[in-house]
Amino acid sequence: MFSKLFGRLTPDLGIDLGTANTLLCVQGRGVVVNEPSVVAVKKGTRHVLLGGDAIGSTAKAMLGRTPLSIDAVRPLQQGVIADFDMTEAMLGHFMRKAHGRHRWISPRVVIAVPTAITKVQKRALFDAALRAGAREVFLLEEPRAAGLGAGVPIHEAQAHMIVDIGGGTTDIAILSLADVVVSESLPVAGDALDEAIVHYLRRNYNLLVGSGTAEELKIHLGAASQNDEHSQRTVNGRNLLSGLPHPVTVTAGDVREAIGVPIRQIVDAVETAIQQTGPELAGDLLENGIHLCGGGALLPGLDRVLADETGLPVSVARDPLTTVAQGTEVFLECLDEFKDILESAHDEL
Ligand code: ADP
Ligand code: MG
Repeated sequence: MFSKLFGRLTPDLGIDLGTANTLLCVQGRGVVVNEPSVVAVKKGTRHVLLGGDAIGSTAKAMLGRTPLSIDAVRPLQQGVIADFDMTEAMLGHFMRKAHGRHRWISPRVVIAVPTAITKVQKRALFDAALRAGAREVFLLEEPRAAGLGAGVPIHEAQAHMIVDIGGGTTDIAILSLADVVVSESLPVAGDALDEAIVHYLRRNYNLLVGSGTAEELKIHLGAASQNDEHSQRTVNGRNLLSGLPHPVTVTAGDVREAIGVPIRQIVDAVETAIQQTGPELAGDLLENGIHLCGGGALLPGLDRVLADETGLPVSVARDPLTTVAQGTEVFLECLDEFKDILESAHDEL
């Protein structure tokens, strides 16, 4: 009786724990937390800095420009938990932030996870969420969450392809009857594009820039195919010859050339996944096409390049950065109905 009452009172949480960004949504209220997955710690220690600025956007601004006494860490790398304690600290902080005045009640939590996650990593996630204050924890495969969030009818006996280009990984999946039938994870996504820009500027302009500057160039000038090649932006870096700070004007053409190789790798991986599917599913894909989501889906022209190379129709989710989080929220609405088919912290792992 009490748990039923609490169940009603408790705002259940959906979580997209991404390499680049962590999003939390509350049933009926949409996304309530949307912050970079970055934690600031005291250098050489495992102590998270005190105060609300140590986790999220302020911590991200510290990446690459930390004073000697501070380190900014990304607890998730390539889609998996690289630092368990930091992940737990981050989850706890965001869960408290999401709940505000309800923070005394333990929520039920649905976390979207990559399909390739190992048992050990699942256990680690369960423990992190329980210790961060969750009452019950359920794991939902990310492609299913993405499909739900993008409004794809994933329950049909029809194949749909989801390509989620995040920070650390590009996750390619084919869904049919609400199940993941094919899944591939490529360690090439937004971060790899940023790194490619850093390399390009070093090689061609003798300029050293941080990953934050490279990301800014990607977001403002980046495109997967020829776009407005002459638009440009001036960035500051360090000249490798003089060692001094130096401004350089970079064009959209520079950025397109810089990111050519990782873009090719992403397109090739999608093609390979399609080639490996059976004829029935491949036939469905010709009709239903590819649904793009994740921050990388915002790169202009990527949908067109993918459509040209694969011959399939390609659509970009309405809000690619929040698709997975929105999917967890859809799932929360039917949690009571579906919780038995999800993996929960009480299952034997
Ligand atoms: P994750 O799920 O791994 O946390 P996200 O789906 O949040 O990743 O996407 C983050 C990635 O998307 C970052 O690499 C970021 O630079 C990239 N990104 C964000 N906005 C854009 C944009 N407008 N164009 C290209 N890439 C973008
Ligand atoms: Mg993601």
